[in-house]
Amino acid sequence: MINITKLTSDKIIIAGPCAAETREQVLESAKQAKKRGVKILRASLWKPRTEPGFDGVKEKGIEWLVEVAKMGLTPGTEVLNARNTKAVLTAIAKNVENPSALIWIGARNQNHDEQVAIVKAVKKYPWARFMFKNQPWRHEKHWRGILKHVLSTKIGKDKIFLSHRGFDPGTDEPRDPKELRNFPDYQMAMRFKTEEDVQMIIDPSHMGGTVDNVIRISKEAMRHKEAGTSFDGFIFEIHPNPTIAWTDAKQQLTWEQFDELMDEYQNLHKEPQVKTKSAQTQASF
Ligand code: PEP
Ligand code: MN
Repeated sequence: MINITKLTSDKIIIAGPCAAETREQVLESAKQAKKRGVKILRASLWKPRTEPGFDGVKEKGIEWLVEVAKMGLTPGTEVLNARNTKAVLTAIAKNVENPSALIWIGARNQNHDEQVAIVKAVKKYPWARFMFKNQPWRHEKHWRGILKHVLSTKIGKDKIFLSHRGFDPGTDEPRDPKELRNFPDYQMAMRFKTEEDVQMIIDPSHMGGTVDNVIRISKEAMRHKEAGTSFDGFIFEIHPNPTIAWTDAKQQLTWEQFDELMDEYQNLHKEPQVKTKSAQTQASF
């Protein structure tokens, strides 16, 4: 089995199920992540949905994330508001000796008052990190505007990172199933990273929409380099049994598929990279 400890001392690798479903599913995912040296486990407690349906286990799952943090991993979840953020972070602070957590807001969560309140709640805990994504529509000024709101809280750039999850195709027309769910704009992401000096990871899962596409986009993104720089890492959806996942079943990888991708990434990563200043100063996480 692959161990990516060396890679994760330099790159941000987040892996785990789209949504936390049960205690068993979260702990099995944490076990698989830990075995491989993955430090950050995604398992979203809140899941905004296009149509009503399962929208997360919510507060009920906080104690599962506490268990993950006790295993020495960084649990990561999407939140909807500052109340959710405080609930997760206070539980981890109270119950875990070496606390750590990653909090993010989803692509469609565009209320800047709420974004700022969430970041302020994260900022209270020096061990917590914050991630935000591009909004679904392709508009660089809007994406950079989110960063401005985030930085208005005076949170350090070393405490945040961005995720490029692709841009919505903007159509309801039936599309070829081989087409992507969301389209990358590598140039925009690299320009944003370099000009703003922020760390930028990529989310091939929500770009791909299907396992085949996720693998294709991951390989493409691994090799993408511009002006000597590249993505600072990945967020992948990995499920112990993707076919029965409660959300995003078509795009979640198995841990074995993850192993194959990481094997390739480690080989490529042997080449030297140019790093952002914030990446150089980021404490090990
Ligand atoms: C997700 O992370 O599962 C998700 C729905 O992502 P996004 O907010 O990018 O749509
Ligand atoms: Mn998902």
